[in-house]
Amino acid sequence: MSDCLVVGGGIIGLSLAYELSRRGMAVTLVEQGEWGGQASSAAAGMLAPLKEFTAPGPMLDMGVASLRLYPQWAQTLEEFTAGDVQVSLEGLLTVALNEEEQEQLQTKYHWQKEKGYAVHWLTGKELTEVEPMLTDNAQAAIYSPREGHINNRLLLRALVTACRLQGVKLLSGCVVSGIAVKAGKVIGVESSMGPLRAEQTVITSGAWAGIMLEMLNVSVPVRPVRGQIAAVSSVGIPLRTVIFGTSGYITPKKDGKIVIGATEDESGFQREVTMAGLASILNGVMPYVPALHTAAFLEAWGGLRPATADGKPLLGPIPGWSGLSIAGGHFRNGILLSPITAKWMADYLEQGSTEHLEPFLPSRFISE
Ligand SMILES: Cc1cc2nc3c(=O)[nH]c(=O)nc-3n(C[C@H](O)[C@H](O)[C@H](O)COP(=O)(O)OP(=O)(O)OC[C@H]3O[C@@H](n4cnc5c(N)ncnc54)[C@H](O)[C@@H]3O)c2cc1C
Repeated sequence: MSDCLVVGGGIIGLSLAYELSRRGMAVTLVEQGEWGGQASSAAAGMLAPLKEFTAPGPMLDMGVASLRLYPQWAQTLEEFTAGDVQVSLEGLLTVALNEEEQEQLQTKYHWQKEKGYAVHWLTGKELTEVEPMLTDNAQAAIYSPREGHINNRLLLRALVTACRLQGVKLLSGCVVSGIAVKAGKVIGVESSMGPLRAEQTVITSGAWAGIMLEMLNVSVPVRPVRGQIAAVSSVGIPLRTVIFGTSGYITPKKDGKIVIGATEDESGFQREVTMAGLASILNGVMPYVPALHTAAFLEAWGGLRPATADGKPLLGPIPGWSGLSIAGGHFRNGILLSPITAKWMADYLEQGSTEHLEPFLPSRFISE
C-alpha cells in the first residue's frame, strides 16, 4: 500500500510524484499509455505567464510564482538525472501589427508596469534590435525579458528518470477503470494491473479527469480542447526570442526546431491534425516572421488541453470523498504551472495545507 497513488502520468502527475517522493512519501504513479504521451508532450513548452494571463489575479500570481521556481526546479532535475531540459528564459515579444492591437497591448503594458513586472514597451529600431527577424510591419511590442520556454519532452523524460531514482513505483500501460471506496473513504483504484491501494489518491488525468470522477458520480467541468501545432527547421532563421501575435506564436527551441502554433478547437477526444488546422497555424505565424515562408516543414501534431469551465485549474480535495483529490484543468499552461502545482499539492497531501489552493478548490463546482 502506498502513501499516495497518482493517476495520470503527464507533466502534472510526474511532477507531483517526484515532489512527494522527495518529501519521503511512498508513491505509485499510474499511466494508461506512455509517460507524458498526451497533452504534455504536445505542448510548445512556453513559460510565459505575463503573456498568457490577461489580467491581474490568482492565475497570474500562480504563473509568476511557478516561473520563479523554474530555474531551480530545472537545475535540480538536471543534476539529479544528468540530463538537459533546455530551459531558456531569454525573452518574449508580444507584437502588435496594427493600431487596434497596439491600443490593447498598451493597456496591458501599463498595468503590468504599474504592478512592477519586468516588461518594456518597444517600437521601431528598438524592436528590430531585440528581434531582427521580425516583420517591418510590427508597430510595437511588449518585451518581457525573463519569460521563455523549455523542451517539455526532455523535461518529461527527466521527470520519469527522477521518479525512478526516487523509488516511485511507475506503472505505465496501466488503465484505471474504477475508484475503490470503503466505508465512504477512497482507498485506491481498480486497474488493468489489478487493485491498487493507497492512503491518498490524486487524479492527474488531464482531459480525462471528468471521466475519471464520473466513476463516483461526481461531475467536474473538465473538457478537452484540441491544440494543433507544428515544427519547422530553424536553418536560416536565427530567431532570438519567442514571438506572440494575435493569430499565433513562434518558439525557437534549442534543438534546431521552431515550434509554431496553435489552434484551439473543440472536437471531443480527437487529436489528429486537420488541413484547416494546419492552414490556420501557417497563415497565423508567417505575417510576423516573413522568413518562415521558406522554412523547411518538419512535422505537425495535436494534443488535448484540459480546460475547466472558469479557466482555472482544479487543485485540492474532492468534497464528500475523503482520501481523494485532483490536480488538473491547467488548460494552456500545464507546463508552466507544473512546479508550483507539485509544491502546493504536496503541501496539501503532506500537511493538509490548502493555504494557496483557495481560488482553485474543486468545491467551487462540487458540493458534498
Ligand atoms: C498544442 C498545445 C500547446 C501547448 N503549449 C503549452 C505551452 O507552451 N506551455 C504550457 O505551459 N502549456 C502548454 N500546453 C498545455 C499543457 O500541455 C497542458 O496544460 C498539460 O500538459 C496538462 O498536463 P496533464 O498532466 O494535466 O495532462 P496530460 O499530459 O494529458 O496527462 C494526463 C495523463 O492521464 C492519463 N490517463 C487518462 N485517463 C487514464 C486512465 N483511465 N488510467 C490511467 N491513465 C490515464 C493520460 O493517458 C495522460 O497521459 C499546450 C497544450 C497543447 C495541446
